[in-house]
Amino acid sequence: MNAIRLIWPWARPYWRFAAAGSLASVVAVLINLTIPLLTSRIIDEGIAAEDSSLVFSTALLMIGLIIAGMACSAISSLLGVRFAFHTITDLRRDLYGHVQTLSFGNLDRLTSGEILTRLTSDVTKVTSLLSIAVSFVVQIPVSFVGALVAIVLIDVSLVPIVFVMVPVIMILVWYVIVRSNVLYDRLQGRLDRLNTVLQENIQGAEVIKAFVRQDHEIERFDVAAGDLADDATLVNQLVAALFPTLILLSSMGIAAVLWIGGGNVIDGDLSQGDLVAFIQFMAFIAMPMMFFAFLQPLLSAAGASMKRIVEVTNEDADVMVAEQGESLPTGAGPLDISFENVYFHYRADAEHAECAIRGIDLHIPGGSTIAILGATGSGKSTLVNLIPRFYDASYGTVRVGGKDVRDLNKSSLRRSIGIALQEPYLFSGSVADNLRFGRPDATDDEIVAAATAAQAHDFITAMESGYDSTIEQGGANLSGGQRQRIAIARTLVVDPKVLIFDDSTSAVDLETEAKIQEIFDSLTDVTVILVAQRISTALGADAIVLLDDGEIVAQGTHAELLLTSPIYQEIYRSQLGEPVS
Ligand code: ADP
Ligand code: MG
Repeated sequence: MNAIRLIWPWARPYWRFAAAGSLASVVAVLINLTIPLLTSRIIDEGIAAEDSSLVFSTALLMIGLIIAGMACSAISSLLGVRFAFHTITDLRRDLYGHVQTLSFGNLDRLTSGEILTRLTSDVTKVTSLLSIAVSFVVQIPVSFVGALVAIVLIDVSLVPIVFVMVPVIMILVWYVIVRSNVLYDRLQGRLDRLNTVLQENIQGAEVIKAFVRQDHEIERFDVAAGDLADDATLVNQLVAALFPTLILLSSMGIAAVLWIGGGNVIDGDLSQGDLVAFIQFMAFIAMPMMFFAFLQPLLSAAGASMKRIVEVTNEDADVMVAEQGESLPTGAGPLDISFENVYFHYRADAEHAECAIRGIDLHIPGGSTIAILGATGSGKSTLVNLIPRFYDASYGTVRVGGKDVRDLNKSSLRRSIGIALQEPYLFSGSVADNLRFGRPDATDDEIVAAATAAQAHDFITAMESGYDSTIEQGGANLSGGQRQRIAIARTLVVDPKVLIFDDSTSAVDLETEAKIQEIFDSLTDVTVILVAQRISTALGADAIVLLDDGEIVAQGTHAELLLTSPIYQEIYRSQLGEPVS
């Protein structure tokens, strides 16, 4: 029921399907409830009175009603399926859209394996629940109450038997529900875990082979799969044990009714037909409960799934609400960027000392080229990711064009900033498609110009079909340096006011890198931030910022740093040899 409450926002537009389906199922139950009455009539008024035409006509009526009841059930199922698929299509679309808006912080919390299962198997489970719910949510209580009223009317003296049987069955079913709910939540968590392990293994297959870690990985998988099997077995045992117990209980109930009711018939207090009808009505009371027990695994699973789906939709885009806030002025001159005493930590509960970057004060004048230099893990990527608000500063202010980024419209901010990420992801499709990713309306000339500037034109034209050549998922058929150059070109195509290259030339040879850098000199009204580990990348910049363990340790032009900063001198010496001065 909880699952139904959670899914209601998506189901509401289709409530008519659900209502019509439920109505059809109620009609089906009402028809079914007349069958025992007709049975009773055949026995008492037909067989006992030896009236064969009444037996025949009543039996015929019975067949007609049974067919009508089945037709109603079929209509109800059909409407249920429609209801479920409409609802689920909307839910899936929203969910997918929502995943697109998740910030880097959200994605740090939910692994892609988790998101994948939630979008696929969880959604499927909720679909089955929905289509069945339409037929049974209303039908079960109606059938239960209807049959209860009927048995009270037939023979009150037999009702206590039912009143003993029903609570016992209810308690049993309830126990199984509670137990398996707990288990299903855990089961799903373990399925997530298994998926994550699987995904890591498939994506990291080369690394695993290179490090000869297959055995370790197989063991890790075995543990995850074993945990899953344990829980799945437990749930199924629980449900499997429930059925024979329920059948035993209801058989005992029927025996008791025949025993006491048989006495009533002999005493003349009850007709034979009514005794048979009473037993049939008992089935109407027991059946819904059994059915509920049968549906139970599905209900629990769907409830757990829905909770997990809502976890994704509740994962609010940490950083921002879509289109709110001021837009950056378009057309005006270059944008300057400043950091004012900025701290950032990835974990919400981290101490100041654990921040990935600490006390950053930095002003990057509009139109200038600045290099951020530092060892791996010194916080370079963290620093630049704050500019387009992939993350929000934990403390302090980041300004673009003089405005606090938190006051700016996210789309406008991101359109103004082109960032080539440290690990560029290329999509399956043609080279040209990838280059147009940020600006689908770019002309052929524009993409060729960008590719030329990024030193990618030559190898692209050398590929089999030039710009129409296929790139495989993740850019698997290109070298690291080629991927990086396409990623640079892709960023240049957007023609933003701020360009950020996060270690974007790390896999490119020095000579090509030098050529790529020539373009930065020609871009006068673009603010460029180059992140690098190699000092050669930084040489052409107007200013160099030296980052060490999350803090700025030196800042100035190459010449200044060479004179004043011992760390810079050391890096220079280790990478390029003795400085010539
Ligand atoms: P750089 O780009 O200079 O190599 P990063 O900015 O990537 O450095 O990392 C700085 C620090 O922040 C490192 O200690 C790293 O482990 C940590 N870090 C980076 N990304 C994350 C993340 N998504 N979640 C938690 N910690 C992270
Ligand atoms: Mg980095």
